[in-house]
Amino acid sequence: MIKYVPEMTSVVMEEIPDRVTLAVDISNCRGECVGCHSPFLRQDIGEPLTEEVIGNLVKENFGVDCFLFLGEGRDPETLTALAGYVRSLGLAAALYSGRTELEPSLLDAFDYIKTGPYIPERGPLNDPDTNQRLYHRVEGEWVDITSRFWRRKH
Ligand code: SF4
Repeated sequence: MIKYVPEMTSVVMEEIPDRVTLAVDISNCRGECVGCHSPFLRQDIGEPLTEEVIGNLVKENFGVDCFLFLGEGRDPETLTALAGYVRSLGLAAALYSGRTELEPSLLDAFDYIKTGPYIPERGPLNDPDTNQRLYHRVEGEWVDITSRFWRRKH
């Protein structure tokens, strides 16, 4: 089962470049970031995220063209299936993972993937010193688009 925190759900413009993105916070994070910025997401909290829930969220937020899972949870099979459902709705599927290495089956399920743990002294994606990377699948190849965030930093 994958759980999300309903009250954290929002439409965001900056997390995925060129996309209007519906973002949900996934709990049961299996990451071990020393500088974890959201420790509550490491707990078993929230509500089950199902196809029905995703379908309703997309209907309620007409115009979004990307669905972002902020975290992986601990059930990769269900996560992969939910990403497939997102794609079946005509939306791009995106994942913010705290891990550096991801299984091929998980990679195949998404159009955008952020990798790497959060390290406070390296900063988030919009810091040129960041260790994190955002990849976009373009014609079957993963392209590192992290630098798109750096131009926004003043
Ligand atoms: S990916 Fe890292 S920063 Fe995000 S909730 Fe998990 S442990 Fe915390």
